[in-house]
Amino acid sequence: MNGPYGWAAQQLTEYLVQLGACEEVPAAVRTGLDRAAEAFEAEAGVVVREGTVVASLGFPARESPPADWGVSGAYVPGLGELPSMHSPFDGGWIALAREDEPFSVQEAALLRGMAQALAQTVRMLELVHSLRSRQGLLERLAQIQRSIVERTDLDSLLEAIVNGAGELVGGDVITLRLLDDGVLRLAAASGVDDSTRTRLSGRTLVGPLPTELSLHEDPSHPFLAPEGLQSVMTAPVLRNGHPCGVLAVASRSAGLYGADEREAMVAFAEHASLALTDAHNHADAVHRALHDPLTELPNRSLFVDRLRQAEQRSARAGTAVGVLFLDLDGFKTINDSLGHGRGDELLIAIAARLSEALRAGDTAARLGGDEFAVLVDGLTDEREAVLVAKRMLDALRAPVDLGGHIVTARASIGVATARGPGGDLLRDADLAMYQAKSQGRDRVVSFDGDMHAAMVASVALEHELRQALTEGGLWLAYQPIVDLETGAFIAAEALCRWTLPPLEFIPLAEETGLIVPLGAWVLEEACRTAASWPGDLAVTVNVSSVQLRSAEFVATVAGALSRGGLPADRLILELTETVLMTDFKRTAGLLRELQTLGVRIAIDDFGTGHSSLQYLKALPLDTLKIPKPFIDTLDEGGGELARAIVDLGRSFGLTVVAEGIETEAQRDALRALGCTRGQGYLFARPLTAEALLTAV
Ligand code: C2E
Ligand code: MG
Ligand code: MG
Repeated sequence: MNGPYGWAAQQLTEYLVQLGACEEVPAAVRTGLDRAAEAFEAEAGVVVREGTVVASLGFPARESPPADWGVSGAYVPGLGELPSMHSPFDGGWIALAREDEPFSVQEAALLRGMAQALAQTVRMLELVHSLRSRQGLLERLAQIQRSIVERTDLDSLLEAIVNGAGELVGGDVITLRLLDDGVLRLAAASGVDDSTRTRLSGRTLVGPLPTELSLHEDPSHPFLAPEGLQSVMTAPVLRNGHPCGVLAVASRSAGLYGADEREAMVAFAEHASLALTDAHNHADAVHRALHDPLTELPNRSLFVDRLRQAEQRSARAGTAVGVLFLDLDGFKTINDSLGHGRGDELLIAIAARLSEALRAGDTAARLGGDEFAVLVDGLTDEREAVLVAKRMLDALRAPVDLGGHIVTARASIGVATARGPGGDLLRDADLAMYQAKSQGRDRVVSFDGDMHAAMVASVALEHELRQALTEGGLWLAYQPIVDLETGAFIAAEALCRWTLPPLEFIPLAEETGLIVPLGAWVLEEACRTAASWPGDLAVTVNVSSVQLRSAEFVATVAGALSRGGLPADRLILELTETVLMTDFKRTAGLLRELQTLGVRIAIDDFGTGHSSLQYLKALPLDTLKIPKPFIDTLDEGGGELARAIVDLGRSFGLTVVAEGIETEAQRDALRALGCTRGQGYLFARPLTAEALLTAV
C-alpha cells in the first residue's frame, strides 16, 4: 500500500486483528492502548472511561496520570510536557504523547479510527460477558427451582441461594437472615467468620423489615464498619408475600454493584422467598393432615404414630404406656338441643381442658365426633394411667358456658396400658370405654383381657346371627294375651327365637344395627302369620329404639301390613319407655304417623324407666304392660305399683296388660285390682304358630 492512507489502512487492519484476539474488556483496553502507542511511536498514553483512567503507559509504577491527561496538557514524569493528541472513546478518550514530533492531522484521524475499533470491541466483549453471566444466573436459578420442587432440605437450599448470590452478584460477605419471633437469625451465610456470625445472629429487630432492594456505600454503616466493608446491597425476602428476612451481599470494594448485580440480587432474593413460602406451606399442609381442624389437637393418625413411638421407648426404658379413650356422655343431646355450633364450642372447650390436664410429653388427640384419646408416656406404675383419667374427668366437670347455657361435661373413659409394642392399646381402651358406658357412664374403667375375649365372641355371634337372619334360622313364638275374666285370647305377642335367648341376642343386634333388618323380618313374619288368625285376634310386636331411629320405620310397618294382608288395627307395637323419653318431639311425630296408619302402641315394662305422666297424655298410646317383677311381688309391696299402673291406665283410658302371671293367686289379685288383661305361663307359654292355632 502506498501513501499515508495505505499506511493508515494497514495499521488499522493490524490493530483490529490484535484486538480480536482479546477475550476480556481490560485486556482489550490494554492492547488497544499499547498497539496504538506502538503505531504512533508514542512514549506515553492513557485510556479514560467514565472519568477514570482505566489503562496507562509510560508512567512510573504507582504514579497514575490525572484523569484529564492528554486533553489539557500531557506531562510525563522524567520527560516533561510532551506534544499529544486524543480521540473520544466510549464516554471517555484515548490520548497519546510523544517526544519531539507533534502528531499530524492524518495521525489524529487514524487514532479516531482506532478508538472506534476499540470501542466496538469493548462493547462486543461486554455484551458477550453479560450474556454469559446471564446464562450462569439462569442456570443457577433453574437449579434452585428444581431443588424447591424436589423439597430439598430448606437449610441446604438457603445455603445454595447464598452461594449463588456470592458467585453471581459478587461480594465478600453474603448473609441470609430470617425473622424468628422478633429476632433476626442467620439462616445461611458465606464468607462469615465466627465473630461476624455472632454479631449478625440473634439480633432483636428494631423497626420493620426492608421491603425493597437497597444499596449502602457508606463504610460507617453499622453492617459494614466492623468488617471493613465498603458497600452492602440488601434485598427483602418474603414468605407468602410478607417480609420475613433479608438477603445481603457486602463487598470490601466500592462500585461493584451495578444494574446487572441488582437484577441478579432480586432474582436470588425472590428464589429465597419462593423456597421459604413453599417450605412453610408444605409444613402447613403436613400439619393440617395430622391435626383436627376444629380443636387443633392431633388427629388419629398422628396419635397412632406417637403411640407407636411411645411403645418403642417404653420397651427400652422399662416403663409403661397408657391410652385413655374418652367419649363424652350425652353429647348428642347437647348437639341436638343447643345446635352444632354450641356442640363445636363444647368440643373446643373439652380439648383445652384435656390439654391443660396433660403432663409434659403426653398427647391428647381428637379421634372424631365426641371421642378423644390421651397418650400417657413413661409410667412406672400402670395405675398412674387411671389416676390421670380420673383427673381428666374432674377437669371436665367444671361447668362450660355455651352462649348462656351452662353445661357440665361428663365422659366415660377406658384405660389400657402396656409395656412395649405389639398390642392394640387404642382398641383395648375403646373396649374399656364401652364397659364404662354400659356400667352407667361418667366413670373410668380399665381394660382387662376378658373384655377382648367377650368382644371376639360377640363378633363371631354377630356373624352367626346375620347368617341366621338371611338363611331362615330365626322363627317367631307367639304368647297369648288373655282376658283375665273369661280366659279368651285377645292377642298374641310375637317373640323372636334363635339358638340363644332373646335377652342375649337382641342387645347384640341393637349394638350392631342388625336389629333394623331383624326387626323388619319380625314385622313381616308376624303380620303374614297373624293375617290367617281367626276373628280379630291381634298380634303384638316388640320394637327396639334403634329401629325407631331409622328413617324408613313407618314405611317398613306399612309395607309389612300390606304385604301380609293384615288390617292395621290388629297390629300392636310394643315400645319401651326410654324410647319416648329420648328425643320426645321426633318420637311423638312418629307415633302420630303410626296412629294414622291405624296401628296401636303399647308401652312394654311400664314403670321401669323414667316415667312421665306428661307423655301418657300427649302421645297416642293404647296399652300399658305391667312388668313381671311387679307381678312376682304382688303380695309384698309390688301390688302398690301394679295398682298405680292400673289406675293410671283407667284415668288415661288405656288398656293394662299384666305380664308374667304364673299363679292363680296372681291372676286373682290382678282381677281384684281391676286389671282386665294378662299374659303368662299360667295361661300359655310362647307357642309355635301352629300350636297357637290349635290352642285358640
Ligand atoms: P318382653 O317383650 O317383655 O317379653 C316378655 C318376656 O317374658 C318373654 O321373654 C316371655 O317369654 C317372658 N314371659 C312371659 N310370661 C312369662 C312367665 O309367666 N314367666 C316367665 N318367667 N317369663 C314369662 P323372651 O321371649 O325371652 O323375651 C325377652 C325379651 O326379649 C322381650 O321382653 C323383648 O323385650 C325382647 N324380644 C323378644 N323378641 C323380640 C323381637 O322380636 N324384637 C325385639 N326388639 N325384642 C324382642
Ligand atoms: Mg314385649
Ligand atoms: Mg315386657
